[in-house]
Amino acid sequence: MRTVRLHDTYSGELKELVPRDGRRVGIYACGPTVYARIHVGNARPYVVFSLLARFLAHEGCEPTLVANITDINDKIYDAARPAGRRSDELAAEMTAHYIADTERLGLGRPDHEPQATQMVAEIVALIGDLVAGGHAYAVSGDVYFRVRSLPQYGELSHRDVDQMDQGEGVEGTALKEDPLDFALWKAQKPMEDTAWDSPWGPGRPGWHIECSAMAEATLGAPFEIHGGGNDLIFPHHENEAAQTLAARGQPLARIWMHNGMLQMGAEKMAKSVGNIRGLAEVLDDVGRDTLIWFFCEGHYRQPLAYSSERLEDAARRVERIRDTGRRLVAGDSPDELAPHRDAFFDALADDFNTPRALAAMADWIRDANRAGGPVGDAQLREMLGVLALDNLLAPEAGAPAEVVELAERRAAAREQRDFAAADRLRDELRSRGWEVRDGAAGPELIPIGP
Ligand SMILES: [Zn+2]
Repeated sequence: MRTVRLHDTYSGELKELVPRDGRRVGIYACGPTVYARIHVGNARPYVVFSLLARFLAHEGCEPTLVANITDINDKIYDAARPAGRRSDELAAEMTAHYIADTERLGLGRPDHEPQATQMVAEIVALIGDLVAGGHAYAVSGDVYFRVRSLPQYGELSHRDVDQMDQGEGVEGTALKEDPLDFALWKAQKPMEDTAWDSPWGPGRPGWHIECSAMAEATLGAPFEIHGGGNDLIFPHHENEAAQTLAARGQPLARIWMHNGMLQMGAEKMAKSVGNIRGLAEVLDDVGRDTLIWFFCEGHYRQPLAYSSERLEDAARRVERIRDTGRRLVAGDSPDELAPHRDAFFDALADDFNTPRALAAMADWIRDANRAGGPVGDAQLREMLGVLALDNLLAPEAGAPAEVVELAERRAAAREQRDFAAADRLRDELRSRGWEVRDGAAGPELIPIGP
């Protein structure tokens, strides 16, 4: 495997990824709070960390991707109440939408998608450990983290503790020992229609402790990569890191990776700003191939400008790949093109630089187009596969009916283990200019080229 380096927010430097047991890489990427449909900006971390996991698998690692679902949160109560809805019903409905909307990205599911409502026991146990260790205190049914009990607090976000605001407003101010402290457990309030039992009375966990507990329960601590949008560095990730370090004496994660925001004009796309485009809406408009290409055109750490021009440009580039695919033949690519393929993967190993990887792919395509004879598509398919775009090389619904019929007869022969007949039919297909390839999604018909 290549040496993979990723930018670590904690150290402020590129850090070498060191898999556990030489192979395993745990990735925890903070997922959505399910109080509304997700917008296309929320899809960026989903795409970035799914593709990173695919790349690491290509390099021979065994990645485990965890993306949580925050289904206990103030925002859910705040959205349900004016709509006259039960908060748990709203969360369940938006969870289903989130699953369906992200499913349409065609990236598969994360390996684990823990929900806070399913992990309250683990969350309560972690809070209990913090109280027992003197890092947290219970007061009037709430529990707060004692920030000044942890000297390392502030090291992830590089902030001075005296310049911090936990963003909890006036809530709990009278109960906190120090305004810097933040809530781990909140007693049920009269307008809240859900609550869970705890040693401190009925209530529900704070957002930050949910993630510490869900990450530890699914990946152990420390795990290799903690990811999320850079708007989460403070207070959410600072507090996640603090909770686990205080409770376990171990860091939560080895590398903290943060993606930049999707920008609409000069501002980040956010529900609070009111400039959002729904993920489902965008997928209806441009399709998943174009959207994934668009995300890959930006370096994950940088802000990415969302505009119809950029999407149209991405659509043209996707079409160019399809065009190239039509001129290629199935099979091995020439060795002379391999340096471009290697440059593609080297770029991904260098802080997951997808724009540089796409440039290397463009070089591959340029040289493939210049080559005199038919060029095999294997290297391009390998590159596109890591970006979940190898479908661009699949033949369009162009195979004539009699060819499809031959392929079906071959599949039936294989099913009956009549391999001689299957081979005969494969040769027959070849003589008509079609290669049949047995992929994960079943047999595919690929034209053998000019
Ligand atoms: Zn989180």
